[in-house]
Amino acid sequence: MWLQNLEPGESWMGVWKGKFLCFDCGAIIEQNPCDICGYLHTPFVIPGLQNNEQPKALTFKGAIHENTYITLGLLKREWERPLIPESDVTDLLGQKIPQRIAFVLLFWTLFESLMDRMFSKKLESIPPKIAKNLLKKNNNISARMGEFYQLVFDTSFKDDLIQIGSPLIYDHLKNLQERRNAFIHDNPIAINEQLISDTLIHLQDIQAAWIKLYNKRCTVKSNTNL
Ligand SMILES: [Zn+2]
Repeated sequence: MWLQNLEPGESWMGVWKGKFLCFDCGAIIEQNPCDICGYLHTPFVIPGLQNNEQPKALTFKGAIHENTYITLGLLKREWERPLIPESDVTDLLGQKIPQRIAFVLLFWTLFESLMDRMFSKKLESIPPKIAKNLLKKNNNISARMGEFYQLVFDTSFKDDLIQIGSPLIYDHLKNLQERRNAFIHDNPIAINEQLISDTLIHLQDIQAAWIKLYNKRCTVKSNTNL
């Protein structure tokens, strides 16, 4: 499991380490040239210098968004914090509510923000007011995993995950969604220790699958690079 391979104190950046955005197609990559569109990133001359030996720099734009970075840090903190003594609040009819229940809720925040990034990027190609309206009307995660995904990408979220070789990710996410909804509405023990453990185990796999989907659905080659 990925957690066992980390050095003490190492961040949970995981699949984002070394990733950057292709300057041309926008893909999330870690190789130059881009393995999606083939664009070769080359050093550019640093402006503002007057001599004939202007230094050149090869720079990349990092792929991870700030909110993703912060949420991964919060997940790490939540997982590593010491457990505290039980109270009556966490003991419901003899069934303990897991102490790291917030771990699952934090993960779901991460997943929803990733899906928001994916749809926002895809809809950059249509007029901003229309995109904003569509995103607002379809801002719940059920739509974004369901009919809105079908509408925007002309396939289902499940089929897309199957096509990139991650069929179990869909089942895990649906289970998480249902348990999280049950927790919010009427079942405080819907999130159990097994679900928390599964969420940790699949944390990097889900983000890796999301990056594949993003590169498959949200990259656009420029005309000069076709
Ligand atoms: Zn590219």
